Amino acid sequence: MSRTKIVAGNWKMNKTPSEAVALVNELKPLVAGADADVVFCVPAINITKVGELLEGTDIALGAENVYFEDKGAYTGETSPAMLKDAGVSYVIIGHSERREYFKETDEEVNKKVLKVFEYDMTPIICVGETLAQREQGVTIDLIRQQVKIALLGVSKEQAQKAVIAYEPVWAIGTGKVATKEQAQEVCAAIRGCVAEIYDDATAAAIRIQYGGSVKGANAKEIFGMPDIDGGLIGGSSLNDDFAKIVNYDK
Ligand code: PEP
Repeated sequence: MSRTKIVAGNWKMNKTPSEAVALVNELKPLVAGADADVVFCVPAINITKVGELLEGTDIALGAENVYFEDKGAYTGETSPAMLKDAGVSYVIIGHSERREYFKETDEEVNKKVLKVFEYDMTPIICVGETLAQREQGVTIDLIRQQVKIALLGVSKEQAQKAVIAYEPVWAIGTGKVATKEQAQEVCAAIRGCVAEIYDDATAAAIRIQYGGSVKGANAKEIFGMPDIDGGLIGGSSLNDDFAKIVNYDK
């Protein structure tokens, strides 16, 4: 089965609303006509404005987080209905920065994944090991655990639409990229895990990204690996290098 590549920018806590307008207007023409699916995952305050600017384009709107309750007394949180109504189709769940700084657990990640599906959006489920865990030799065990818990209660049909982002924590924002072989090894293990949970068809359909210091200069070799279906891009989503990543095949 051939999977369409998916390249998602994770803006993190960058760009004020007016700066967001400028960046979207700069990038829009540069990523038009890409072979890959393109997603801009932007801070909550920018979602409405960026959504307006993306209307009529092939670029999908994404969020960086969501809360797992429908609504109510959760000051400061953003509900899945709010995202859906604003035109969001992808939501990053369980980014390592949320796991580290906001103490998000695998169980919360699972609740969020289920909610995102309930509202007919697509989760980009982040998994990854720290440098210490890699050196302890537990990378594959840990990733399998993260994937299995994230997908608890997710149906086969839902899983086929999901995106999993393998992001080694030691490679995020550090300039240290996993080798293409390291990235492929873990992405293949994730696909194997999905096959165990569901079946081969689901494993063949699910899209698995690599994330961690991807740049225009290294995207082609990483995305060329058989189990890597694109990337989740942090730093390089904030400038025109993002267009080089998106157009890695041109
Ligand atoms: C990320 O934030 O998901 C990420 C991969 O960041 P960077 O590309 O900056 O390493």
